[in-house]
Amino acid sequence: MAQLDYSKLQGLIPAIIQDADTKNVLMLGFMNEEAYLKTVESGKVTFFSRTKGRLWTKGEESGHFLNVVSIEEDCDHDTLLIKVHPVGPTCHKGTDTCFGTSNDFGVEFFRYLQDFISRRHEEMPEGSYTTSLFKSGVNRMAQKVGEEAVETVIEATNGTDDRLIYEASDLIYHLIVLLTSKGHRIEELAEELIKRHK
Ligand code: AMP
Ligand code: ZN
Ligand code: ZN
Ligand code: ZN
Repeated sequence: MAQLDYSKLQGLIPAIIQDADTKNVLMLGFMNEEAYLKTVESGKVTFFSRTKGRLWTKGEESGHFLNVVSIEEDCDHDTLLIKVHPVGPTCHKGTDTCFGTSNDFGVEFFRYLQDFISRRHEEMPEGSYTTSLFKSGVNRMAQKVGEEAVETVIEATNGTDDRLIYEASDLIYHLIVLLTSKGHRIEELAEELIKRHK
C-alpha cells in the first residue's frame, strides 16, 4: 500500500466503513497513523476518537466490533474504504448503520448466496440439502432446475403471486447450485447480460 496522506486533516484520514456483505455504509470515523496500524494488526477497526482524544477500538465496550475484511485507499491516498463483518449493530443507538437507512441485502444477496453455496461445494458438510444436491450428480441437479422452472411456469399462468415468488426463488437457488457444480458463478450471468445490453 502506498504512503497514506495524513497531512490534510491535522494527522487524520477519514475511514468509510462498509458492510462487506450487504454493502451498507455503516459509519465514518477518523484514523491517525497509530489507529490505522492498530486496525491492520488487530483486524478490528480502530479510530482516533476526537471526542475521547485517544485510540478507540469500535466495540471496546459494547462488543460490537468491526472485523476487517479489506482495506482500500482512494485515488490520492487521503481516504480509506474499509469493508467489514460487523458484530452486532454498529450505531450506538442500536441500528445496523449510523445512516438510518438500514437497507437489507437487496440484490447483493445473490452474490452472498453464491459464496455460501460455493463454500458448501468445497466443504460438503453432512446433513446439508445443498451437499445432497451436489452429491446427486449433474443430471439430477439439471432435472431439479427443470422441475422448478415448470413450477414457476404453472404459478405464473395458473397460480398466485406468492407461489410464483416462491417457485422462482427455488429456480434461482437450484440454478446457482447447478452452475456451481459446473465451476461457474451467477455473476457470469450478469456479465453475459451486460455484454448484450451494450
Ligand atoms: P463501543 O465502541 O461500541 O464499545 O462504544 C463505546 C462508545 O463509543 C459509545 O458509548 C458511544 O459513545 C461511542 N460510539 C459507539 N458506536 C458509535 C458510532 N457508531 N458512532 C459514534 N459513536 C459511537
Ligand atoms: Zn482523496
Ligand atoms: Zn451512530
Ligand atoms: Zn419448487
